[in-house]
Amino acid sequence: MSKSPLKILFLASEADPFVKVGGLGDVAGSLPYALRALEKAPPDVRLVIPFHSVIHTEKMDLQRVAVFTIPRQGGDVPAQVFQTEMRGLPVYLVSGGPISNSQKVYDLDPRMDSEKYVFFSLAALELARKLGWRPDIVHANDWHTSVSLYALHRMQADPFWAGVKTVFSVHNLCYMGAGSEVALSAYGLPPVDDESLPWWGKHVPLPLGLWAADKIVAVSPSYAEEIQTPEYGCGLEGFLQQRRGRVSGIVNGIDYASWDPSQDSALPATFTPETLSARGEIKTTLQTQFGLDVDASIPLLAMVTRMDQQKGVDIALEALRMLTDQSWQAILLGTGNPDIEATARRLESDFPQRVAAVIRYDAKLSRQIYGGADMLLMPSRYEPCGLAQMIAMRYGSLPVARATGGLRDTIADSRTGFLFTDSSAAVMAATLRRALAAFGNREAWQAIQKAAMAENFSWEQSALQYAALYRSL
Ligand code: ADP
Repeated sequence: MSKSPLKILFLASEADPFVKVGGLGDVAGSLPYALRALEKAPPDVRLVIPFHSVIHTEKMDLQRVAVFTIPRQGGDVPAQVFQTEMRGLPVYLVSGGPISNSQKVYDLDPRMDSEKYVFFSLAALELARKLGWRPDIVHANDWHTSVSLYALHRMQADPFWAGVKTVFSVHNLCYMGAGSEVALSAYGLPPVDDESLPWWGKHVPLPLGLWAADKIVAVSPSYAEEIQTPEYGCGLEGFLQQRRGRVSGIVNGIDYASWDPSQDSALPATFTPETLSARGEIKTTLQTQFGLDVDASIPLLAMVTRMDQQKGVDIALEALRMLTDQSWQAILLGTGNPDIEATARRLESDFPQRVAAVIRYDAKLSRQIYGGADMLLMPSRYEPCGLAQMIAMRYGSLPVARATGGLRDTIADSRTGFLFTDSSAAVMAATLRRALAAFGNREAWQAIQKAAMAENFSWEQSALQYAALYRSL
């Protein structure tokens, strides 16, 4: 007996290739396709994102499919929704004053963001009703779309929404949408009347989404455990412990078609696990480009990262300073916090022969670094999942990383990379020493590279787990 597919309304603030700011864009731009591509019982996933002003529409076939208003104190807010299709996936772009008035995907002014994302969350639900497409499950991601789950919870008496289940994926617990109280009230959403949430979280989007969700997914099993502890729980650990039966962890994947060292046109030489020596040409290109000694025997270390406190760039830089008795070079690619950028520049000026600080976002260079560097440093203070380490492993660059969150779940110490536990420069330096020693044994090093490249980080694995979770609801 064939059943009709589960209907999933998938909400995100960004999705590649429409608009991408960070890892969430990768996820929302891959997971819905991976779900629809499943061989067994693929769900009917439909993606809804805001029609950000940065989205280019020239090459898109857009159809206006719904026009409605969202009630708000002081006057209803008109919304228009456009539909397009991307590789078979229906994608809805929601526009309306609060979205069109904002120039950025994430505004520096939290009031702009709260108005925009509360409106978007409510409009995405209303869209389903206007289309007469009743989802079985609404799947929200991070604080920007979490309000949809709270609003849905409050509409359970409505026959259209009664019995619709909810999933909330946590890509980063620390960004909660604080400061949204005014917008929530204006759109008719009062604080939740329940003592299980801490007082400060009763009118904040992310805690409200967690509170309303039938299932909570952290983007790695370790992060799912960590967010239930004071160190990583951002004040919600007690609440999450109470809900632990609903919490699970599913690691993100990477897009294997895009991240493929045997076909990557950004690389001066492509390679496979059988032709690893071609990586040498990429390393030479990098050493030449950044004025480092051209020498295959010097280990080339790298970072490709947002320069944010989370990423522990300061820890890596301090660890490198402790290792000046060793032979190594480093390329630091990243932008973000000006203070952290300055520390990277300082290391370069202190060690110009060894270090290149490349302070910019450069997708092409990032690919060359993954393909040519020997090690990728990721001493993150916390890391919900992390994509860079998975990309690096696929490209034969071995991660030297802190055993936290997704890093712990995707890297096997001494088998596919090198892990350390304490968030300290001395401990990282000791681990780097271990990795540098391993690099000295060419055959053993290549065996680790091959093991890392043989890991399977494709989206299919994650999609199977999400599909099973949907079915369990
Ligand atoms: P996060 O999403 O927390 O920033 P992830 O490791 O999950 O970290 O994903 C980061 C992604 O952004 C990776 O694909 C990485 O290659 C890319 N990236 C980060 N900084 C840069 C940069 N300066 N230039 C190019 N790509 C970058």
